[in-house]
Amino acid sequence: MKKLNVNKEACIGCGACVAIDSAHFDFDENGYSEVVNNENVDTEEARNAISSCPTSAISYIDDNENHEEEHNCENCDHKCCEHDEEN
Ligand code: SF4
Repeated sequence: MKKLNVNKEACIGCGACVAIDSAHFDFDENGYSEVVNNENVDTEEARNAISSCPTSAISYIDDNENHEEEHNCENCDHKCCEHDEEN
């Protein structure tokens, strides 16, 4: 299932996403954005919030919590388990 995600390290607390899409975003206790609702995330408001974020802190993620345990990294096409392959 598609979910919204805020990268708290990138968020500067400008409030744009909260102003644009208060159905999905609100400020946390530190003044940074957090996702407060992951229902019905494929909306114009959510996409506008993503595109309006000055630090690109918001993204859609694929909510498959067990993904990393479900596959073998050797055959992985996903970016979830990139390795440092120096050799
Ligand atoms: S628009 Fe981006 S930087 Fe601004 S509060 Fe939302 S997540 Fe943080």
